[in-house]
Amino acid sequence: MTRTVVGRGGLDPEASWLAAGLDHLAGIVDPDLPGWSRVGFSEQDVAGRAWVAAQMREAGLETHVDAVGTVIGVLPGSSPSAPAIVVGSHSDTVPGGGRFDGVVGVLGAIEVARALRRSGTRLTHELRVVDFANEEGNPQGVKLVGSRAIAGGLGPDLLGATDDTGTTLADLIAGAGHDPAAVASCRWRPGEVAAYLELHVEQGPVLEQQGASIGVVTRVCGISTFVLDVHGRRDHAGTMPMDRRSDAMCCAADAVLAVQRIAAAGADTVGTVGALTTTSPLTNTISEQARLTGEFRSPRLDVLRELQRQYAEAVAQADARHRTTSDLTWGHTDPPTVLDAALSDVVAGSAAAVGHDAVRLYSGATHDSVEMARLGPAAMVFVPSRDGRSHCPQEWTDLDDVEHGVRVLLQAVLDVDALPAGAGRPG
Ligand SMILES: [Zn+2]
Repeated sequence: MTRTVVGRGGLDPEASWLAAGLDHLAGIVDPDLPGWSRVGFSEQDVAGRAWVAAQMREAGLETHVDAVGTVIGVLPGSSPSAPAIVVGSHSDTVPGGGRFDGVVGVLGAIEVARALRRSGTRLTHELRVVDFANEEGNPQGVKLVGSRAIAGGLGPDLLGATDDTGTTLADLIAGAGHDPAAVASCRWRPGEVAAYLELHVEQGPVLEQQGASIGVVTRVCGISTFVLDVHGRRDHAGTMPMDRRSDAMCCAADAVLAVQRIAAAGADTVGTVGALTTTSPLTNTISEQARLTGEFRSPRLDVLRELQRQYAEAVAQADARHRTTSDLTWGHTDPPTVLDAALSDVVAGSAAAVGHDAVRLYSGATHDSVEMARLGPAAMVFVPSRDGRSHCPQEWTDLDDVEHGVRVLLQAVLDVDALPAGAGRPG
């Protein structure tokens, strides 16, 4: 039996609240950064989340902020013993980011709660609406801060991680008025989550290319980061013959292009060097040291391991070519996350029920769903990103597409709520 909510697909009759919400958050941004920047734990992030919390309260949710800044709003269900259906995303952005990444999922989740209230629909399960703290990461190098804390993975090692100035993640969180020492209180119990559903912009070009309005995500990428330190020899740029140099800059250039070549040869694999620095600022001196930092991503862990092997080989070849020696250090490898197949089928059915053929696709971007999948079945709904652009000021999703996504999210909440206990999902 499919339950639906009356009105214009159940959403705000003029979609005015969603549009106004997108505009409102787009007004709370750091004037010193390009785009729509609400960087985690910044003044703007704190102000944005205060507004989100107020919207949750206005929607009738019992709202609180946890010890690391995640905003949580609860709509109680009719069965107090039933685990929660959790909907949400994040309202922080990367520096120089766009207006839709994360925000669409937070506002969409609140609109689901609003639609349920408007129609007088009482769910069996509790509905928990979440704006996760600092999904995008920080100079301390920790992503998914809020969802990690909820899933129990934000330990002393990560809270003690430092930026270039020695500021720890705990300092950063405390500076925004939260209490990182109480991080254990953020943790949700196993069995507390019936399902996690996240609406998000695709951030890539697949849906647009296929002319599709809704995507259901199969897996979220695995990521392997690395640092490559190249050691050459400082010499005079005018007198040392080309065939006797040990030029760290040239080895680093080869190593950058090797990332591109190896990643481009695989299906669904990508590789990026984000930074390249050298010790020598002079043109009349051969570089002695170079450091590059980068990453590979793939939907499969075995492929990620193979990329690591190929890259180590390419670096050894570059060293031989340039008479350099390099240290290749792999950071933590995040394995890919396979989202819940049965729940994703339910969501694809919800999309069909409201008129959308869902395309199944892989996410090359990471999401809070990775952490939430540790607590229960997780699924994601994607809506198109214009030209596949994201993490840039040009990021855009049409309001119609946002509405379609929210409509699917609402239907998915209703459909998951209606699943009989024991039918593959926790009751
Ligand atoms: Zn995001």
